[in-house]
Amino acid sequence: MEINTPFLIVAFFVFLALVYSAIVSVKETELKAARRFFIASILLPLPFLILTFLGFSFKFETEVAILSALFLLIIVFIIPFGRIRSYRQTLPVKRIDERDTMFSRNELIPDTKEFNDYYKRNPDKKAIDDKWREKPGLTGRNATQYHPFQFASADASFDTIKALKNEVDGKVSDIKIEAGAEEISTYIKKWTKKLGAVDCGITELQNYHIYSVGGRAERYGKKFIKRHKYAIAFTVEMDKDMLATAPAGPVVMESGQQYMEAGKIAIQLAMFIRTLGYEARAHIDGNYEVVCPLVARDAGLGEIGRMGLLMTPKLGPRVRIAVVTTNIPLTTDNPLHDYTVIDFCIKCKKCADVCPSKAISFDNMKDVDGIKRWQINQEACFTLWCTLGTDCGRCVSVCPFSHPDNLLHNIVRKGIKNSSLFRTVALKLDDAIYDRKPAAAKVPEWMDVKWEKNK
Ligand code: SF4
Ligand code: SF4
Repeated sequence: MEINTPFLIVAFFVFLALVYSAIVSVKETELKAARRFFIASILLPLPFLILTFLGFSFKFETEVAILSALFLLIIVFIIPFGRIRSYRQTLPVKRIDERDTMFSRNELIPDTKEFNDYYKRNPDKKAIDDKWREKPGLTGRNATQYHPFQFASADASFDTIKALKNEVDGKVSDIKIEAGAEEISTYIKKWTKKLGAVDCGITELQNYHIYSVGGRAERYGKKFIKRHKYAIAFTVEMDKDMLATAPAGPVVMESGQQYMEAGKIAIQLAMFIRTLGYEARAHIDGNYEVVCPLVARDAGLGEIGRMGLLMTPKLGPRVRIAVVTTNIPLTTDNPLHDYTVIDFCIKCKKCADVCPSKAISFDNMKDVDGIKRWQINQEACFTLWCTLGTDCGRCVSVCPFSHPDNLLHNIVRKGIKNSSLFRTVALKLDDAIYDRKPAAAKVPEWMDVKWEKNK
C-alpha cells in the first residue's frame, strides 16, 4: 500500500490542534467545548486518513489542488482581509450628568431634597424608577438569587470600598520630585501591573471624560471641573468561573471583589503620586468624577462595544476599570482605533440574544448626543438586577471576547483582527463550540452553603 504523506501530515496536525484545544477547554472548565473538540479531533482527520490509507490514489495535480486550497484557507485567515483601517472614534459633544446613572438614582431616598429635585427635573423617569424600587434591590434579601453567604461577601467588598472613600484625595507632599515624563509613565504602568492590573494606559484628561454634575452621596448636585491634566486608566480581570455562573450570586461577589481590587490599586497609585509632590485623585467605585470607560478607551485600553462596556484586547469586557487623574507630567498613549471589535459586535449580537431583560440593542450604532454608539436600556437592565439581587453579568460571561488570555484564544483574536471573513467564521465556531445561549455554570459547591432562615 502506498502511503500519501502530505495527507497524513494534514491529518496529524488537525488532530493535534483539536486535541490541544480540547485540553485547554478542560483546563478552562468548558467541558462541553472540550467534548466537542475531542469529537472533532476524531472526525475531522478521518477524510485525510481515508485518503492516506485506503488506497485512494489521486493524480499529483489533484493532490496539489486540495493541499493548496487548504493552505489558501489558512492564508485568508492570516493576512489582513476586509479590514477597515481608517476608523476614528467620534468624541462626545456633551458631558454626562452622573445624576442620570442608575447607581445615583438608586441612592435617592424618597422625600429628600435630592429625590424631589431629581424627579422634578425628570418627571418621565419617576414611573420607570418606581418599578425597580418595588423590587428587593441589589444584594436584597428577597431577591431571586439571594444567598446570605454570597450576598454578604459582596456587601463586605462594597463596604470595604466605602471605607476607602476618604483616601481618594489627600495632602500633597511639599517636596516635589522631578523626573522625566517618559520614565515616570513607564514606572507607573509597570508598577500598576505589578500591583495586579492587567493593562494600564495614559491619556490627556478631556472635559467629556468628566461628569458634568455629581450624583452620588454628598456629591449630588456638585459641579465637577477639570482639575488635572492627565488620567491614568487601568483594568483588573474578573474571574471567568465566577462570571460563568451568571446571573447567580458569585457574579456580584466578583464585581465587589474586583471593584475593591481596582480601588485599592488606584488609591495606592494616587498616594504614590502625591508623595512625589503632585496632585492625584483616585476614581473608584461609588466615588467617580470621571466616566471610566471613556477614559480607558482614550488611554488605548480598548473599544466600547455593543453592551456599552470597554472591550479590551485580551479579556474583552471581563474587566473592571479604575482611574487616577493627576498633574504629574506624563506621556500619553494613543487610542486603539480598532474597528475590528466594532465590526465583530455588528455581526455577533450574542449579548443581545442572551440578555434576559432585552436591554441590549440588536440594531447598529445610533447617534446619541452627537456620537455614534450603542446604548443599552439601563433602566431595563437595572430593574432585572434589583429582581435578581446580583448585577446579572450574562452579557459579559457569554461574550466571545471574554475567553481567557491564552494561546488558543489569542490565535482566534489574531484572526479576528486580521480578517473580516475570519470574524464571520469565528462567530459561527464560537456558537458551535460554546453554544449561542450557553447555560449558566453551577455555583461551586463550597460557595453554595446550605442555610436556614431565622425562625
Ligand atoms: S457578545 Fe458579541 S456583540 Fe456583544 S459585546 Fe461581545 S462581541 Fe460584541
Ligand atoms: S447585565 Fe444582564 S440585564 Fe444587564 S445588559 Fe447584561 S445581560 Fe442584560
